[in-house]
Amino acid sequence: MTTVVLRDLTRRFGNVTAVDRLNLEIASGELVAFLGPSGCGKTTTLRMITGLLLPISGDVLFDGKSMITVPTEKRGAVMVFQKHLLFPTMNVGQNVGFGLRMQGVEKKEMNRRVSEILELVKLPGFENRRAHELSGGQQQRVALARALVVRPKVLLLDEPLANLDANLRLEMRELIRSIQREMGISSVFVTHDQEEAVMLADRIALMFDGVLQQYDVPQAFYQKPLSTRVAHFFRNDNALAGTRRGDVVETALGTLRVDAARVQQPDGQVLVTVRPEDVRLNPEAGSPNCIQAKVLLVVYMGTHTQLQLDVGGHTWLVHSDADFQARVGETIPIELPASRLWLLPAN
Ligand code: ATP
Repeated sequence: MTTVVLRDLTRRFGNVTAVDRLNLEIASGELVAFLGPSGCGKTTTLRMITGLLLPISGDVLFDGKSMITVPTEKRGAVMVFQKHLLFPTMNVGQNVGFGLRMQGVEKKEMNRRVSEILELVKLPGFENRRAHELSGGQQQRVALARALVVRPKVLLLDEPLANLDANLRLEMRELIRSIQREMGISSVFVTHDQEEAVMLADRIALMFDGVLQQYDVPQAFYQKPLSTRVAHFFRNDNALAGTRRGDVVETALGTLRVDAARVQQPDGQVLVTVRPEDVRLNPEAGSPNCIQAKVLLVVYMGTHTQLQLDVGGHTWLVHSDADFQARVGETIPIELPASRLWLLPAN
């Protein structure tokens, strides 16, 4: 069990700051997702954790010990790449056992551990198969087994599911999660898929342009995003400008009550936001926090109906029951429940 701490970790390539003063802690046995758009610095961070790349400043600590001068092979961190690079001339058993052979583990023990780990990745008895006799999903599981067999302190997965089709992705997600839990290995995986991060991770580190934006449990990115950019990445652009005074926000559409114990922005200019699934349509007369919205578009989505509304000049997305009926152009009341409102900084 290993804790990983990244302290002011920074890496530049020429003029590009790929990772900028990154600080975060991965608890022992935790599964953390590095999430963000292409080029935001996820892989660079992963490579600095393994030692494949050195930071220009900052530190990587495993259990409080600096790893900066420790070479990759001595760190006890293994990486699984997007493309499963198996040795083509070796069979599965030899591929998986490679790391153990390098460590000088004797043959009988090596075979026992290889079989054990192949069971774990659901490829029992595959020792004698060649890499080209495996499907893409099976090759990726062999790559995972090869990383796990050496019992690493830290497991790093660089978009390990990117090359798999939808069904295999789902299967691999579940497999990674259950093995990671069972073995209790502190793990990081890189993804630009928000859904994947939410389904797999204990905590998500969301990065933009080399800068950590928010590091929290998945629910926080929906309920308590720290900026409009974070909210947007999690598909919420619903916002209304206002001025907070205690437990109310004055907006152009009326006064909205907020839960002062929940929201975190100080009094002053704010943006009120609420997730598409939390807006109530056609509330009962007299309900609090009701405003008027004009229907711009109604799209039946099978499991729900999605509406585009004009709310004080901003276009909002709102989800309703699948059988909700509304006409384009009509004005409808909507309720913004105080318990679901969140405040973002105005700028
Ligand atoms: P992706 O999801 O596309 O893999 P990423 O978030 O993993 O992206 P990185 O690969 O870490 O992003 O790259 C971060 C930035 O650093 C990018 O602007 C990239 O072009 C740059 N970069 C990364 N590696 C190098 C390198 N070896 N030389 C020069 N620039 C690099």
